Amino acid sequence: MEQRVSSISSDPVPDWAEKVAERLGPGPHMVVTGISPSGNIHIGNLREVLVGEAVVNALKARGEEVRFVFHADTIDPLRKIAPGVPKEYEHYLGHSLSRVPDPEGCHASYAEHFLGPFEEVLVRMGVEIEFLRSHELYESGFYTEVTREALEHTAELCRILQEVSGREMPEHWSPYLPRAASGSLSGTRVVEHLPEERRVVFMDEGGREGSADYSKGEGKLGWRVELAARWKALGATFEPFGKDHTSRGGSTDTADRMAREVFRYPVPGRYEYEWIQIKGKGAMSSSKGIVLLPGELLDIMPPGALRRMVLGRDPTRALDLDLVEGFPRFMDEYKAGTENNPVPFAHLVTVAQTVGGDAEAAASMLLKGGYREAAADREKLVEDLGYARNWTKAWAPESLRFGMLEPAEVPEVAAGLSAEQRRYLAAVAYGLEEGMDGDEVQNLLYSTAVEFGLKPKAAFGAVYTVLLGKKSGPKAGPFVAGLDTGFVRERFLKVLEDTTAGRAES
Ligand SMILES: [Zn+2]
Repeated sequence: MEQRVSSISSDPVPDWAEKVAERLGPGPHMVVTGISPSGNIHIGNLREVLVGEAVVNALKARGEEVRFVFHADTIDPLRKIAPGVPKEYEHYLGHSLSRVPDPEGCHASYAEHFLGPFEEVLVRMGVEIEFLRSHELYESGFYTEVTREALEHTAELCRILQEVSGREMPEHWSPYLPRAASGSLSGTRVVEHLPEERRVVFMDEGGREGSADYSKGEGKLGWRVELAARWKALGATFEPFGKDHTSRGGSTDTADRMAREVFRYPVPGRYEYEWIQIKGKGAMSSSKGIVLLPGELLDIMPPGALRRMVLGRDPTRALDLDLVEGFPRFMDEYKAGTENNPVPFAHLVTVAQTVGGDAEAAASMLLKGGYREAAADREKLVEDLGYARNWTKAWAPESLRFGMLEPAEVPEVAAGLSAEQRRYLAAVAYGLEEGMDGDEVQNLLYSTAVEFGLKPKAAFGAVYTVLLGKKSGPKAGPFVAGLDTGFVRERFLKVLEDTTAGRAES
């Protein structure tokens, strides 16, 4: 797999990101993004990181000092078994994701299993971000002070939760979730806070007493309190959110009040991004198994294109990803902005399917098509052919898929051609000259059809039949022009011979 890392600095800062940065005051800035790695981290989650990155770039462009972090909520409890994970994992419900074993045994934990591929994509894309893991932050004492503060303001935090969410809070509610001896973070009840010793005394579900040192990660703050507490601990000045968090009474509503009224910390700048859907499949959802992994998309396009695709024109708008019919047009728009004389993506798809992995043959096909720049840069060409090939395998509509017919297959496939079609192919073979470009071949195919009184459909159908074994295919002129002239001549004339031989025998 390609591991080429692109530079982010070459991507222009989008207008919306500039506006967001303008609303943020003077720095230094701390831009926070994050995810709970409870299942596959999909392309919708990538949108959050890329929104953060765009704002970071906008801030840097005006000379600000910026830290950019990815806060992985690895200490969060496992709430639901991800699709494909064995049912026995129900035993781990309530346990920290960092302490649940990897269901496939390839990483150190359940959390790492899902974080690993996502972080790898960020590295491949050249996103300059610090990776933080919440269980390490709790264990190292990073959250000790805000945890103490939260515990001391238990009543106020509880009141805010009740007022904002409208929910009746349990009698013994605590902002802190100590870890029981079983490993579970749920069902425990804090009965005493000992701030001098930085620990709480709690009762577990079975009524047994326990003690948790909150400076050592022996528990965590509940999610809504933690959100506000980590803004303060990290010094966050900006954080993008998906719309599930920003709904009325949602986690940002409670965190905003907690930050102001309890932690005495200014609410960081905010940006609400919309969801990404896959055309024909619906909204991305790890729990429903509707998932598109960012790594799969890096197999079909370069990092710059993926950035553009995931952000869209405006990330506050929902995005319906069309990776099938609409993808070649998307790639062409992207290439138009980044390349000189770009090769249309559909043509790359044709070339890739015609020459397989042969870069030399691909270069000569492109040269004949008039794409000198693309033919000259071999490294990029190999990469582009890889994207085209991977897209064809995974997403291309049937109409764009083809394979060159092997010589032995020709007689059988060509058996249905009429005598006129055969003579037409022979005439084209004689008219074909080395060095003709796509337009010239297209003219030849067309004018010869007129000459033989053949309808274009029958004429071009004959061409596709003997080359691809199909009645249709890529635009014939550039396609045929890109092939070796000797090969095409031989193939077109062979059909005429085959008939003669066949008729002589019968
Ligand atoms: Zn794994």
